[in-house]
Amino acid sequence: MKGGATPLLRTRTCNRVLWPAREVFVLKTEILHININAIEKDKLSYAAEVIKGGGLVAFPTETVYGLGANALDTKAVQGIFNAKGRPSDNPLIVHIAEKSLLPELVRQTTETARRAMDAFWPGPLTLVMDKSEKVPGIITAGLDTVAVRMPVHPVALALIREAGLPIAAPSANTSGRPSPTTAKHVIEDLFGKVDVILDGGNANVGLESTVLDVTVNPPMILRPGGVTAEQLEGILGPVNIDPAVIKMKSENITPKSPGMKYTHYSPKAEVIVVEGSLEKVVERIKNFVEEYKSKGTQMGILATDQTRRYYSGAEVISAGDRNHPETIASNLFGALREFDERGVQVVLAEAVEVKGIGMAVMNRMNKAAGYNIVKVD
Ligand code: AMP
Ligand code: MG
Repeated sequence: MKGGATPLLRTRTCNRVLWPAREVFVLKTEILHININAIEKDKLSYAAEVIKGGGLVAFPTETVYGLGANALDTKAVQGIFNAKGRPSDNPLIVHIAEKSLLPELVRQTTETARRAMDAFWPGPLTLVMDKSEKVPGIITAGLDTVAVRMPVHPVALALIREAGLPIAAPSANTSGRPSPTTAKHVIEDLFGKVDVILDGGNANVGLESTVLDVTVNPPMILRPGGVTAEQLEGILGPVNIDPAVIKMKSENITPKSPGMKYTHYSPKAEVIVVEGSLEKVVERIKNFVEEYKSKGTQMGILATDQTRRYYSGAEVISAGDRNHPETIASNLFGALREFDERGVQVVLAEAVEVKGIGMAVMNRMNKAAGYNIVKVD
């Protein structure tokens, strides 16, 4: 963006450089720092114009960074799939800033959906509802349902409002890599593939939204996330959890949410989760380090504040405080990327309790490990 209050919007075509031999489009990505406490109007309206013009804008949300495009523009949405290398059978979440946009997107709002929205919107809860005709098939990967969320992050809300459109936005990472919780992570994966990256600091929940299917009774958690099962039950009564959410390697369960079947969140390093009583977990990890060290493998340990002092002979990163698992949620993806930066080949990760936000943490950790889980008692 050239400075000034009314930025000149370049067309996307001008932004693109064609690499004739390989037919690869390279976009000129603009990185705009944005003050989340006093959002700069010119930057916001520039980003909104890019969205309205069919472009791609990465922006902070309270869960992770999202990669946004006009949800009603099939070509723009195809751009998201291309930039991320996302499989076309993995549907996208549509983000709105006002409930009044909902009737355009869904066939009806059930009583359960209404209660969930009243309690948790804006916030990290995505609701799966019956889709309207208006939602393009590319968004839902051909399903009859659409996933909708209203984020609480001020930049996300302001951008959606300013664009005046529903915005499709999956996590702003290359498919399969750990989701981005900082603009730096987005730059690592998507620089040259998107038009604008809005840098608004850390995404503080650190894990994606909870995906709740409210087309069934009782409602079912398809993906655990920022809103916990306990919080949902407090408002909605009994809630089922898709068995695929916390599955074991040996179990052959097909998840109800298409995206959950993919190996996700993987750093380049191999990840092994060690699960059991904390004392035995620490002992097993120390033994692993000894075994691998003799082979010359670069080791990493994903520890916690309570255990990090027990380890040596490896790159040790504390994910956070076991007594405050939300800190672990917040740091997990960043830590996985950090191990790659340090050239670690194998990461030994301490499991945490599958309770509260811990369910979402273990879902992501087990997936990062490709369900390579060692139980010690
Ligand atoms: P992401 O946008 O990367 O956070 O991923 C969105 C998640 O929501 C994926 O796991 C999708 O499979 C899931 N999702 C999106 N739409 C639907 C839907 N209509 N039914 C079930 N799951 C969905
Ligand atoms: Mg994602």
